[in-house]
Amino acid sequence: MAHHEPDIALSEPSADEIKTTTCYMCACRCGIRVHLKGGRVHYIDGNRDHPVNRGVICGKGASGIMTHTSPSRLRAPLKRVGPRGSGDFVEISWDEALETATSWLRDVRARDPSKLAFFTGRDQSQALTGWFAQQYGTQNFAAHGGFCSVNMAAAGLYTFGGSFWEFGEPDWERTRYFMLFGVAEDHASNPLKIELGKLKSRGVKVVAVNPVRTGYGAIADEWVGIRPGTDGLFVGALIHELMRAQKIDLEYLVRFTNAHWLVIDAPGDADDGMFARDADGKPFAFDKTAGALADATRADIAPALVGTFKLADGRNARPSFASIAERFLADEYSPDKVAAVTAITADTIRRIARELAQAAFEQQVTLDIPWTDWAGRRHDRTVGRPVSMHAMRGISAHSNGFQTCRMLHLLQILLGSIDCPGGFRYKAPFPRPTPPPNRPARPSEPNTPLKGAPLGFPQGPEDLLVDPGGKAQRIDKAYSWDAPLAAHGLMHMVITNAANADPYPVDVLFLYMANMSWNSSMNIPAVLRHLTAKDEKTGEYKIPKIIYSDAYSSEMVAYADLILPDTTYLERWDCISLLDRPISTADGPADAIRQPVVAPDRDVRAFQSVLLDLGARLRLPGFVTDTGAPRYPAGYSDYIIHHERSPGIGSLAAFRGEDGKSYGRGAPNTKQLDSYIAGGCFHEHHLAPEQHYYKHANKAYLEWAKDMGFIPAAVPMTFQLYLEPLQKFRQAARGHGAIKPPASHRARIEKYFDPIPFWYPPFDSEPGESETFSAITQRPMHMYHSWGSHNGWLRQITAENCLYMARARAKKLGIADGDWVWLASALGRVKGRVKLMEGVNPDTVWTWNAIGRRARAAALDTDAPEATRGFLLNHLIAELLPEREGGYRFSNSDPITGQAAWYDLRVTIEKAAPDEVGETFPQFVPLHSPLLANAGAPP
Ligand code: SF4
Repeated sequence: MAHHEPDIALSEPSADEIKTTTCYMCACRCGIRVHLKGGRVHYIDGNRDHPVNRGVICGKGASGIMTHTSPSRLRAPLKRVGPRGSGDFVEISWDEALETATSWLRDVRARDPSKLAFFTGRDQSQALTGWFAQQYGTQNFAAHGGFCSVNMAAAGLYTFGGSFWEFGEPDWERTRYFMLFGVAEDHASNPLKIELGKLKSRGVKVVAVNPVRTGYGAIADEWVGIRPGTDGLFVGALIHELMRAQKIDLEYLVRFTNAHWLVIDAPGDADDGMFARDADGKPFAFDKTAGALADATRADIAPALVGTFKLADGRNARPSFASIAERFLADEYSPDKVAAVTAITADTIRRIARELAQAAFEQQVTLDIPWTDWAGRRHDRTVGRPVSMHAMRGISAHSNGFQTCRMLHLLQILLGSIDCPGGFRYKAPFPRPTPPPNRPARPSEPNTPLKGAPLGFPQGPEDLLVDPGGKAQRIDKAYSWDAPLAAHGLMHMVITNAANADPYPVDVLFLYMANMSWNSSMNIPAVLRHLTAKDEKTGEYKIPKIIYSDAYSSEMVAYADLILPDTTYLERWDCISLLDRPISTADGPADAIRQPVVAPDRDVRAFQSVLLDLGARLRLPGFVTDTGAPRYPAGYSDYIIHHERSPGIGSLAAFRGEDGKSYGRGAPNTKQLDSYIAGGCFHEHHLAPEQHYYKHANKAYLEWAKDMGFIPAAVPMTFQLYLEPLQKFRQAARGHGAIKPPASHRARIEKYFDPIPFWYPPFDSEPGESETFSAITQRPMHMYHSWGSHNGWLRQITAENCLYMARARAKKLGIADGDWVWLASALGRVKGRVKLMEGVNPDTVWTWNAIGRRARAAALDTDAPEATRGFLLNHLIAELLPEREGGYRFSNSDPITGQAAWYDLRVTIEKAAPDEVGETFPQFVPLHSPLLANAGAPP
């Protein structure tokens, strides 16, 4: 037999050069090594030294080469020539594109800067994009947080000055009991997988609370298949059981929370439900030792947690804890009462409560680390309760999400497990003061910057962005009576509101990497109508000008007028900054960069550099020098090095100062990026052991954090179990104060703005109705949003999605594996194929998120499985709730934060007729792709 030499060279080196950078195939920001050969990307693996992934690479990260070379990449700036939505474009020069954008933006800024709505998607440069909006003078700015997980972030920040994910993490080394709530593989990929592996090898119990047993649920020791939207009730029942058994860390509550602060009990008075305070604003407690009222913030008192006490004016007041205990000890939170609604048996709830108590109180962790608290008291050891939790969109994306997330934090705090050994730990720059001090900036005058950042945290009606008549001043109605604490905006409402001129029309809609005409919008057909709607009188589009920047040919491209093509993540500078969402660990702050490992081979530019260029052309303050020249002529890398947010504080914390030796504060250093690259494109700072725990009350940490500019003063953060700002809104709804909600909003504000967390059914939910199902999405570990469908390797794994449902429930409806079914909501119908499974709550159906694509988007063929057999639930989700009395329609969002309530969806399911099988519904006319067939008409 003839011997054939292999025609591939098996021992060839895979690269002639290896460059480090940061992955962007999902949001985890792992360190990667890009292997280059002949100047081309050949291979990507994980950076072993990197604090996020320690060398681990996931399927998405390793497939980055196919995203980098995707046929879906845009090639040059585009100008729309056909009707909007036709996809008919011509390529133009960058000069023409930038001049066009500048003239549009300049005109709007001179007339009314609010008429620019600038929203970004999963953008990792919000420190820059937010600053652009501020200097331009538009309050109409936000990123994708309002439709992602703002409930989780806002509830945490208002309650204890932190949250999960970039804000904090479990003490992985020491935790003894770990609970996951509503977490799919998406928002915590490699970092969570690595640590879950360690927990499993240590024998730590992992409990996954999720209607679906995907990914992490599959490896959990216990899967709790909860009914969607009922997590608050389950957590409330855990609190009920812990309180009943008196398994609460009272000492922790007194030290770190407002549990002992006295709340005025004077129904009808303007300050009913507010904290009783002295003339300096200091809250009162009742000191049991002195038998008198005392400053609640003093460290040397023994405050009462229950009882009723007389204030100097003769009115009654009670410690907030007394009301909290009363609420959760009530029968409505007993395991027997919540079992039927949550679909978790009372025995299971009781057992999990016992296990939590056992881990927290019988397995206390003691470390030989002395530390000093804020009051100067020295502690010889650091002691902690080793229970930890991690939660994400599953509990957040409901209309009851904010109060549910607050309840979860209440549980953590009652167990004494925040920032202690074995518990949940903050990552710098968190903790931040509670409630956060920065308020949203008010609208500005023509040609004038805002006085502060557009996004912030209202503490009462006086911080709302409403006109004297109560009308919203932001296009998305964030910070209005519709969504007073909308800390991340309501991106999902921008197009609808702008087209309806409700509260007003905009002149320019400017979007960055947000697929708003497809998987990032509810009620897609309506959004497409809004994007193409014309004013009957003028014949102009109701949203007159749309600028869009993306690296890829997404569905949104076809609906824009001007396209500014972005680079891929391997072709640009980027900054994972402590001013934004860094890559810190609990042991210290860390930040990172992306460096261009290859140059673009198309006529594309990094969006961040384009934004700096636009800012300079518009002569925005800070974007130009005193002589009017661009301040950052070399683009984003120039900005990363030289921009100072305040003197000495800039995008990157390390290698500052002219000699590059300062950390945190220091003059810009022209060699800073070289130093980052030499270190693997990241920098990690290690806190001293005495700064590791109880950071919210740890003198050494607080003083350091103040020096770093993370917090305004080295004072302790008090956990707000009782959230007074909510009571301020509630009192306004009751008719108190100068700024009151319109009559149409009063009942809603009074009901939901309860300063003590509580559970209420999601708005679109009718639990117990036998014929309806909750319909939710999960994300496969190999896809992130819709980004996977322009990746030739990843779409080989999943190019079509099924509707997953419980086998027993399907049988009752006569539905077999592989059958085609109709899902229907009040809004419409969607058709897809069924897959049966066991690990799903029987009243829940689910599918993979964002697999379905419109034909020819992302340069896909018209018969691509994504288009013919993929589907989205978005078509069934209404962006507006049904009309209420008086005709007003609230958005489909949490009434407190405006978080998009994606997961409230309820559907009916019916088997499709034999002649209806084979293709999903709805089908849209294939897009004209600017990348295929020279933008010609589709076949
Ligand atoms: S988890 Fe995977 S895709 Fe996400 S940043 Fe890390 S390597 Fe990249």
